[in-house]
Amino acid sequence: MKDRTADLITSRKRLVQQMPDPSAVLPGSLLSRMVRCNKPGCRYCEKGKGKGHGPIWILSVSLGNRRVRQIPIPTELKIEVEEGLQTFAQMQKVLKQIAQVNLELLAERKRRR
Ligand SMILES: [Zn+2]
Repeated sequence: MKDRTADLITSRKRLVQQMPDPSAVLPGSLLSRMVRCNKPGCRYCEKGKGKGHGPIWILSVSLGNRRVRQIPIPTELKIEVEEGLQTFAQMQKVLKQIAQVNLELLAERKRRR
């Protein structure tokens, strides 16, 4: 039983080390969309033919109460934004795993009372 606890603490340490640097973390998800300029004669926006301009990138962030903020992202910032989102997802994943280990540790402590 003692070993089980030691194993759990070891894997928790490993998980904590996997935690990424949170400095550049970003919420939301990145969407792409085509846009229409509505200029007459634009070959990109021609009715039924053109696909419009773009894609442009939008960071969609939930504000709660079903409200969403949509932030246009310039192409040169796209990779940076993607990395921020990936960091967020990675942190959530590791955090859940740490919480799971702590649940098991809690069970071990109760068992050994
Ligand atoms: Zn156009």
